[in-house]
Amino acid sequence: MSMFLARRLVTRCFSSRPLHVCIVGSGPAGFYTADKLLKAHEGARIDIIDRLPTPYGLVRSGVAPDHPETKIAINQFSRVAQHERCAFYGNVKLGSDLSLSELRDLYHVHGLFRLYLHMVLKLTKILAFQSLGGVFSAREFVWWYNGHPDYSSLKPDLKSSDKAVILGQGNVALDVARILLRPTTELASTDIATHALSALEESSIRKVYLVGRRGPVQAALTAKELREILGIKNLHIRIKETDLSVTPADEEEMKNSRARKRIYELLSKAAAAAGTFEGDCGQRELHFVFFRQPERFLESDESKGRVSGVNLEKTILESVGSGKQIAVGTGEFEDINCSMVLKAIGYQSVPINGLPFDHKKGIVPNVRGRVVSTEPGLYVCGWLKRGPVGIIATNLYCAEETVGSISQDIEEGGVGKSEKEGSKGLMQLLEKKEVKMVDFSGWEKIDAKEKQMGIDRNKPREKLVTWEDLLAAASADS
Ligand code: NAP
Repeated sequence: MSMFLARRLVTRCFSSRPLHVCIVGSGPAGFYTADKLLKAHEGARIDIIDRLPTPYGLVRSGVAPDHPETKIAINQFSRVAQHERCAFYGNVKLGSDLSLSELRDLYHVHGLFRLYLHMVLKLTKILAFQSLGGVFSAREFVWWYNGHPDYSSLKPDLKSSDKAVILGQGNVALDVARILLRPTTELASTDIATHALSALEESSIRKVYLVGRRGPVQAALTAKELREILGIKNLHIRIKETDLSVTPADEEEMKNSRARKRIYELLSKAAAAAGTFEGDCGQRELHFVFFRQPERFLESDESKGRVSGVNLEKTILESVGSGKQIAVGTGEFEDINCSMVLKAIGYQSVPINGLPFDHKKGIVPNVRGRVVSTEPGLYVCGWLKRGPVGIIATNLYCAEETVGSISQDIEEGGVGKSEKEGSKGLMQLLEKKEVKMVDFSGWEKIDAKEKQMGIDRNKPREKLVTWEDLLAAASADS
């Protein structure tokens, strides 16, 4: 049955009894799902909960401050939150304030759309060195410059040397490289957190090494983001000419992917334009380091417990069929000295109690968003459903599929039959547990305050960056 037909049937089935839905996580996946559910089911009553007092997840805390156009999605999400059949409950944490079984009792449908993601380095030998000062996951660094209340006090040391190493060559790696290398005058008018802007203004980092275990044909970044970083004023791009030579297998990869070919061409052009530049003191440089995989972090002799560099193993590519080439270590090693390392090698979702979890893929096992091996009514969307890939708009299609599964289950009678309390029961439970929930009007107070503070600094907003300030603003008298 087409999704359209399924929706129409379901809308009719539910015109008399409300369908109580709880969405956990107010990022793009959660909001797109809410939007589609509201449209598909006249009887749907949706509660969106989030552990933060602020909505919008990744759009507020993940998208780089110099990408304001990407944040426009917030307008659509805020219309959804203000819908008469939708409510936002911030500062409510699944696991400590509420359990999965409590949600099960209150709602017909409960969906998990964002769990707390952390960056992992899958090499066990490196894990042992992860506690060195100066080594951060890109997520920590991103949350720091975006004013996330959990990481606003991170204080990365940007002054000890002029070199930083970023592991990985995806778009997150490009985001953090751009923030380190962009003239701060260009960041000053964005919504970057002021503590980050001040640290970047005083930063000594001039050379950023973007390390990829494969070659320029396989770099995980996308052309638009690559063009943007290559276009930064007075930034010298450094790429070894030998890294640009291609094998028949690379040629084949480029033949099969216009995107791969475009990226390779952009990198080749940038290398040619850089010419024989030798570097000068104070010049900002971005080094693309290909065919190197991290072996271990080096500890400083002078400053115990702090990183002083990364030991890298040279790699070659090996074909593994279906046009894919993987990196294989050669046993040859070299070091890059630096005072900061950012690990941007992908995200992984964190398992939650009571839910199945596929540790290899980092997802909750599901079929088209329907969580397998649990009772009906539990769904996933976003990175928790499909793994850590895709841009914000990818969640639109992902949400459509999950809502399609929900609709099908309702129509077939597996979900939505019993009486549930929904919002009313949630409010009572939160009150009983003395959870200081922040509703959408509380968020609007935070929003208004941040925008007001932004006016003074000629920025779209000045983010409140501590839990105390956020909660105080949310409960302030209007
Ligand atoms: P990603 O695109 O998957 O890139 C991960 C990088 O880490 C790759 O270079 C990968 O190399 C490398 N890597 C993975 N495991 C490694 C290991 N064990 N050792 C060494 N290197 C390793 O991930 P991401 O950058 O976190 O981005 C996640 C998603 O968000 C992507 O779909 C991205 O496009 C999207 N995003 C988009 C934007 C934007 O549109 N502006 C901004 C940020 C993020 P291999 O290729 O060899 O695996």
